[in-house]
Amino acid sequence: MLTKNIESMLNDQIRKEFFSSYLYLSMSAYFSSITLNGYAHWYRVQAQEERDHAVILYDYIIKANGRVTLAAIEKPATEFDSVEDVLRRTIEHEASVTESIYNIVDNATRERDFKTVQILNWFVNEQVEEESNAADNLGKYKLMGTDGKGLYLLDQEMNARIYAPPAILAGAQQ
Ligand code: MG
Repeated sequence: MLTKNIESMLNDQIRKEFFSSYLYLSMSAYFSSITLNGYAHWYRVQAQEERDHAVILYDYIIKANGRVTLAAIEKPATEFDSVEDVLRRTIEHEASVTESIYNIVDNATRERDFKTVQILNWFVNEQVEEESNAADNLGKYKLMGTDGKGLYLLDQEMNARIYAPPAILAGAQQ
């Protein structure tokens, strides 16, 4: 069983992961609106991954005999100043998600809920990837994206991202 505290924190994390999905889909729509179709693709894949994160937690709560309670998802930003603005906001957002995960790990550890700590370790590792990808995307943009031809090439690189469901996701085809 999950304690009410951990159950509530995990449910809130589901909401945050769905919000991440919504935010990245909104960013994808922004990129489509300025014809950066590769960036739009990359963010659309990211939105799918965030939905996967929500469902992994959803499945875990049920398996741990807890109760899933879905909450309202806030409206994401829809207007962005520039490509760089989106990339910077992504870094900030991922840092806040990492902090949120750490907070649950901290609580679960204090409550000796080691099964929750174990599943959250997957998320801790995933956040290293997310923060690394977000920083890389900004770094590459600053290196060559401010020039039209460089941005065109970067957009093509972003378009090469392939969606693969995480192995931890129940029913994932690997
Ligand atoms: Mg996530």
